[in-house]
Amino acid sequence: SSGSDENDVVVIGGGPGGYVAAIKAAQLGLKTTCIEKRGALGGTCLNVGCIPSKALLHSSHMYHEAKHSFASHGVKLSSVEVDLPAMMAQKDKAVGNLTKGIEGLFKKNKVNYVKGYGKFLSPSEVSVETVEGGNTVVKGKNIIIATGSDVKSLPGITIDEKRIVSSTGALALSEVPKKLIVIGAGYIGLEMGSVWGRLGSEVTVVEFAADIVPTMDGEVRKQFQRSLEKQKMKFMLKTKVVSVDTEGNGVKLTVEPAAGGDQTTLEADVVLVSAGRVPFTAGLELDKIGVETDKAGRILVNHRFGTNVSGVYAIGDVIPGPMLAHKAEEDGVACVEYIAGKEGHVDYDLVPGVVYTHPEVASVGKTEEQVKALGVDYRVGKFPFLANSRAKAIDDAEGVVKVLAEKETDKILGVHIMAPNAGELIHEAVLALNYGASSEDIARTCHAHPTMSEALKEAAMATYDKPIHI
Ligand code: FAD
Repeated sequence: SSGSDENDVVVIGGGPGGYVAAIKAAQLGLKTTCIEKRGALGGTCLNVGCIPSKALLHSSHMYHEAKHSFASHGVKLSSVEVDLPAMMAQKDKAVGNLTKGIEGLFKKNKVNYVKGYGKFLSPSEVSVETVEGGNTVVKGKNIIIATGSDVKSLPGITIDEKRIVSSTGALALSEVPKKLIVIGAGYIGLEMGSVWGRLGSEVTVVEFAADIVPTMDGEVRKQFQRSLEKQKMKFMLKTKVVSVDTEGNGVKLTVEPAAGGDQTTLEADVVLVSAGRVPFTAGLELDKIGVETDKAGRILVNHRFGTNVSGVYAIGDVIPGPMLAHKAEEDGVACVEYIAGKEGHVDYDLVPGVVYTHPEVASVGKTEEQVKALGVDYRVGKFPFLANSRAKAIDDAEGVVKVLAEKETDKILGVHIMAPNAGELIHEAVLALNYGASSEDIARTCHAHPTMSEALKEAAMATYDKPIHI
C-alpha cells in the first residue's frame, strides 16, 4: 500500500481530470497515487456520462436508421425491433473495457491506485476509507483535488432514478417510456431525449430560459431546434416547473410560464431532471484545511491550479470553467506540469463544445453574439451541407458551417458546425484557431474530395470571397 511512504503527487478522484493528471505525473517521474471511491476509474465521464451516452446515441441511431432510412438506400429488412437489454449490455461492455483500460495504463505508468473515499487530515495527508473496509493514510507533497461534479437537483423534486431520473437513471431505463419529459434543454437533456425519442418515446423538453443550449451561436441554434422538432422533440421554453407528483402510475408535472401565468399539467412515464451539474466536494473536509470555494461551491484556484492552501491544487469540474471531460484533462496535464516545475497552459477560449445529437453541433471560439458584443468588425462565411457532395451522396445533408472572421485581418474568431459528424469536423477549426489562422488559410488548404470537411473550406472561402459550390 501507499500508506507510509510519501508521494510527490496524490490525486483525489479518478475521472478524466484525475486519472490523466496521475498518468502525466508518473510520466514526469513523480511518485504518484490516485484515490477513487467508485471502485472504477474514469469518473463521471466514463461510468455515467460521455461514454455510456455516446454508446446509446450510436445504438439508438442505428435502430432509427434501420427503421426509417435503410429502405431508401435499398436495404430491405422484414422487421426491426429494439432489444433494450442487448443495447444496455453493449453500453456496459464498452464502459467495462474502458475502465479496465485505464487500470492497465496505471500499471504501465506505475501509478499507485487506492480504491476508497478520501478526506483531508492536513494539507499533505489524506485519510482513505477503503472500498474493502478499513482506513489508510496517503501522504503527498502535492495533492490535487479532482473530485468532479454531481447532478444538480431541483427544489421539491426527489430523484428516485426510476420515474424521476437524473442522467444516470436515463442511461439505464429498463423499458422505453411512452412519454418522457426532460427538464432542462442543455446538451445532456437533448442527448438523452434523442436516445429515447429514437427508440419510440414521445419527448417534451421543458426549459426555463428562452433558448435551448444557451452557449450556442443563435443562428445555428435556431436551425438545430428546427431539426430536433422535425424529429418530433417538443419544446416548452420559458416554462417553469412548479411541482412534480409521483402518486399513481405515471408522473404529473405542473408547469407555468416563466414570467408567471396559468398553470398547466403534463403527464409522463419518466421525468429526466437535467438542470445542470454542481461541483462535488462532500466528505472531503475542505474546511479542515481551509480551502476556499465560491458561492457555487467551486474550488477557487490561481492560473497554476493552486488553491489558497500551499501544496493543494484543484482541476476539472470542481473548479470554475466549462464542465467538460477534455477541459478536465487539459487542466490535469497543465497542473502537473506546473508541479514538476515546467510551464502548463490551457486556453479556455478555445475549448470546443459538442452536442452529440443527430446532426451534431460543434463549436469553437466565439459566437456571433459574442463577436458583436466585442464591437469588432467581422465577416460571416456560411456553407450548407445541402451543397456538399459527400453529404448528398449519403443522403445526410442537414446542417451548415458558419465561420466568423475579423474583417480587418481575416483572423478566425469562431467556427460553428451542424453536421452528422460535426464533433470530428470541428478539430480542423480548433487547430486553426490555436494557430491564429485566417479564414484564407483554411480556404487555400487542399481538402480531400468528397468529404464533409470541404464544407469548412467553402465556408472559410465565403468569409472573404465567393464559395465555388453554391
Ligand atoms: P469526474 O469525472 O466527476 O470524476 C471525479 C471522480 O472523483 C469521480 O469518479 C468520483 O467518484 C471521485 N471522487 C469524488 N470525491 C471523492 C473522494 N472524496 N475520494 C475519492 N474519490 C472521489 N463531457 C464531455 O466533454 N463530453 C461529453 O460528451 C459529455 N457527456 C456527458 C454526459 C453526461 C450524461 C454527463 C453527466 C456528463 C457528460 N460530460 C461530458 C461531462 C463530463 O463527464 C465531466 O466534465 C467530466 O467527467 C469531469 O471530469 P472530472 O475528472 O473533473 O470529474
